[in-house]
Amino acid sequence: EDGWRTNVVPSPIADPPIVYTKLFIDNAWHESCRGRKSPVYNPTTGELLCEVEEADSEDVDKAVRSARTAFQTGSPWRSMDASDRGRLLNRLADLVERDRILLATLETLDSGKVFIMAYFVDLMATIKTLRYYGGWADKIHGKTIPVDGDYFTYTRHEPVGVCGQIIPWNFPLMMFVWKIAPALCCGNTVVIKPAEQTPLSALHMAALIKEAGFPPGVVNVLPGYGQTAGSAISHHMDIDKVAFTGSTDIGKLIQKAAGESNLKRVTLELGGKNPNIVFADCDLEYAVEQAHSGLFFNQGQCCLAGSRVFVEEPIYEEFVRRSVKMAKSKVLGNPLLPEVDQGPQIDQKHFDKIMDLIASGKREGATLECGGSAWGQQGCFIQPTVFSNVTDDMRIAKEEIFGPVQQIMSFQSVEEVIQRANATPYGLAAGIFTKDFNKALMVSSALQAGTIWYVPPSKCGNVHTFYNKALQTMLLSSKSGSIVTTGEYALQEYTEVKAVTVKISQKNS
Ligand code: NAD
Repeated sequence: EDGWRTNVVPSPIADPPIVYTKLFIDNAWHESCRGRKSPVYNPTTGELLCEVEEADSEDVDKAVRSARTAFQTGSPWRSMDASDRGRLLNRLADLVERDRILLATLETLDSGKVFIMAYFVDLMATIKTLRYYGGWADKIHGKTIPVDGDYFTYTRHEPVGVCGQIIPWNFPLMMFVWKIAPALCCGNTVVIKPAEQTPLSALHMAALIKEAGFPPGVVNVLPGYGQTAGSAISHHMDIDKVAFTGSTDIGKLIQKAAGESNLKRVTLELGGKNPNIVFADCDLEYAVEQAHSGLFFNQGQCCLAGSRVFVEEPIYEEFVRRSVKMAKSKVLGNPLLPEVDQGPQIDQKHFDKIMDLIASGKREGATLECGGSAWGQQGCFIQPTVFSNVTDDMRIAKEEIFGPVQQIMSFQSVEEVIQRANATPYGLAAGIFTKDFNKALMVSSALQAGTIWYVPPSKCGNVHTFYNKALQTMLLSSKSGSIVTTGEYALQEYTEVKAVTVKISQKNS
């Protein structure tokens, strides 16, 4: 993080060996029961990086058995002091710090994200999240309740049990830690499935989890596909809770599977089509810059991307002109190189989805200001694309593109923009740019979103810096699906409250 300010930029590791390619169950490496492997590609070149063991339902059963055993009362994990759970999470954070460059390199090779961003943003967030939840481990407690009669009543905040966790490819490592850290600090055990596109950092983390000293079975890591391993997790009769981040369509399936199986608890973090509202009294240069990075960061593959930029009419044309200039100045290429700002999209399927939405924008009458085509000779690169004259009924204004495609709309009044910003089934995040603090507070309470960024005019850091600093307190909710991902609120998602009443001979005040 300090390097971010002082420009000390580490170099990625050249051709790092890919050591961990098996299923991690019970603190040991396993081949898959069906003997299947799946390929892992480098999206920058399209080359095969390695093959990893591919989990299916039998492997999920095996991992759940291990997680269940680790969760038995009296087990090393259940009888461990809460403060020691915190120490283990901090030890894991130390090991991530030790391997930071390697993990950032693996993340870039596997997902195509820009190495410097992986190093400074993803790895910093990973380390801080582990330490944050390490700090919580021995501060999770219940209450004593003054009930009527000769009774002593107290509540315990107990772990939920075996937690299934399913994560996407856009922040493979950060999502891994956002999921395991709150679960572990509360004392749960975990069976986690990384996205099929990006298993490598999760497998390296599995090795670090063992090295840190977590008992066997506490964390099990199963690379595999959604329809097989993912579905087996969501339908499993012995998983107590499932946490999912990914697309809305799959989120619905997860919820349904929970209902059809054992009514396991569900938390979902789904898509976004987030409004960035830019009022005419903003610091224009700064707002353009922030709206740009708020959309193009991570190749646009962020659920929090500000993908609907509403700009007040008097500054609309100038805002579009400057946004186009910024988009055109982006350097595309090998994301391991320090001069590169934008890497490839994750895979061909996702590339095709983005190109289809770009074509719909053109067809439906938006003005294509720049980009709109593929870039380069290999890999799934898309030119930074800006659309102006976008109207709310267009697909590009309604659907999550999850790519480097910025939509800029104009508005005329505060009431109008609030109504339009809220007219989405998502409601994940929103940004506000104005010098008027009262207006910002009024708009922020009217917006239906779980996370709001108010960007005052002074150059006090960029939105993504905000985002990183605010990780501990970030609340992600959404109208479709929900729910809380980080911060203290996540602890509620990983604990059950139990009230215990003890008959006593006499109570005193
Ligand atoms: P996805 O929802 O298909 O995949 C996310 C995770 O769910 C992966 O681990 C996948 O293997 C698993 N999965 C898939 N089908 C499953 C099933 N039937 N049961 C259980 N698990 C299943 O997302 P994707 O295909 O990788 O991306 C599609 C779209 O989702 C993107 O274009 C984007 O709009 C959105 N997305 C959102 C986020 C986010 O952070 N909210 C992240 C990635 C993708």
